[in-house]
Amino acid sequence: MTVVGLDDTDSRERGMCTTYVAAEIGKRLRRAGATVSRLLLVRLNPAVKYKTRGNAALAIHTDADPDLAFDVARERLETLAEATDERTNPGLAVAADEPAAVPDDVQAFTRLAIRDHLEIDDATALLDRHGYRSWHVGDGRGRIGAVAAVGAWPTLEEWTYEYISYRAPERWGTPRTVDDESVFAAADWGYPTVWDTVDRGEDEPVCVPHTPGPILHGIRGDDPDVVREVAARIESEPVVSSQLFVTNQGTDVHLREGTLESVVDGRAYRVDGRVASEPETRRGGHVFVDLESVADGDDSTGDEPARLACAAFEPTKRFRDRVRTLRVGDRITACGECSQGTLKLEKFAVRDLVTTERVTPTCPDCGRTMKSAGRNQGYRCRDCETDAPGKAERSLERDLEVGWYEVPPCARRHIAKPLVRGGFDAPIHPEQ
Ligand code: ATP
Repeated sequence: MTVVGLDDTDSRERGMCTTYVAAEIGKRLRRAGATVSRLLLVRLNPAVKYKTRGNAALAIHTDADPDLAFDVARERLETLAEATDERTNPGLAVAADEPAAVPDDVQAFTRLAIRDHLEIDDATALLDRHGYRSWHVGDGRGRIGAVAAVGAWPTLEEWTYEYISYRAPERWGTPRTVDDESVFAAADWGYPTVWDTVDRGEDEPVCVPHTPGPILHGIRGDDPDVVREVAARIESEPVVSSQLFVTNQGTDVHLREGTLESVVDGRAYRVDGRVASEPETRRGGHVFVDLESVADGDDSTGDEPARLACAAFEPTKRFRDRVRTLRVGDRITACGECSQGTLKLEKFAVRDLVTTERVTPTCPDCGRTMKSAGRNQGYRCRDCETDAPGKAERSLERDLEVGWYEVPPCARRHIAKPLVRGGFDAPIHPEQ
C-alpha cells in the first residue's frame, strides 16, 4: 500500500483548497487503474500561525505503486497549488507503508502536529529516516502537514465524515447559488447524525463557505451514507464532482488535559477551575471571565491560586450569554486554545453552581433592610429593635444548569466536538 500526504496548497486571496487537490489526485490514480481506499482530511493544531484557514492536511490511501502515486500527486500539486502566493508552501510526502502500520515516530509526529508546534526540520528528519519520497515548493512547510497526514490513520481513534461537493472551475470566486430552504430541510432530515450543517439560531447555513475556493458545500457527520444523502438533498448550481473524506473533525482531539498553573500559549486544553471574577463584556462585545485554581484540600501552602482569563469572543454569538450567566464561585471545566495568556472558550461544563448569596438581613417585623450594628456586632432594625447575628443567605435563581455548553455551529472550530455527538461526562445542552 501507499500513503500520500499533502498540505499547504491554498492562498487566502486566490482560493484553491487542499481537499480539492487530494480529490483530484484520487481521481487520477483511479483513472490509472489503482484502487483508492480512502481520503483522510486531518485537522492539525488550530493555533498554528501559518495556517490559511482551518489547518487541514490530506492523505490518500491507495494500492498504486509509490512511484506512480508520487508522480501523479506532484503533477497535480504543481498544476493546482497556488504557489505564487509566497505564504503558500506546498509539501508532499509519499510512504510505501500500510496506512495502519506507519512507523511509531511518524505517529508521534502526527500527535504533536495536532496538539503542538513543529519545525520543518522535524518533518525532513522523518522523511530522510524512512526514505519517503517527498517534494515541496518555497520553504516546504507543507511537509509538516504532509508527514502528519501520513501518520494519522493508526494514531487517531475517532473518525467522522465530510462529503464535499465542488463547483465548476469557471464559477470559482463568484457567489454560490445554493437554495437555503433545501439546506435547512436536508439538515433537519440528517440531524443529529449530520451536524454543523446550519446554524438555526443565526438562521444561516454553515456548510457553504464564503471563501473563493472550489467547495460548494461540505456536509459533516457520523455516517458516510447519511452525509452523502444530505448533500444529495441540497438544491444548487451544478456539482461537478464530490468526494467523501474520513476526518478527525468534531472530535476534540486537539484538547489536552491541563491545569491553570500549566497552560501555555499555542496549545488547547481542558481545565478545571472556579469562576473568580464577574463576567465582563468589553469593547467589541467580547466577554471575559477569570478562572482560578481550586485548592485540593491543602490550604496550608499559602500559595496564591493560579488565575487564567477566559474569553468568549463576539463571533461566538449566543454562547456569550451563557458565559455572562456565570457567577463568582461556580465550578467549571473550560475548553479552548490558550493565546496571549487567555483561554479562547470553545465549550465549558458547569460542575457546581453557586445557588445562594449572602445579603444584609431584613427585619422580620417591618420587612425593611436592617442596618449594621457596628463592627462584628451583626445587624439591627432601629425601629422594631430586632437584630440578626450576621448576613442572611438568600437562594439564587440561576439560568444555567449543570452540564456542557458550547459555541453555536457558526463559531465551531473544525476540530471541536459538537455536544450532540455525545460521549461527554455530564448532561449536554447542544446548540443547533
Ligand atoms: P490548506 O487548505 O492550504 O491546507 P490550511 O488552513 O490548512 O490551508 P495551510 O495553508 O496548510 O493551512 O498552512 C498550515 C501550514 O502549517 C502548513 O504548511 C502545515 O504544514 C503547517 N503546520 C501544520 N501544523 C503544524 C504544527 N503543529 N507546527 C508547525 N507547522 C504546522
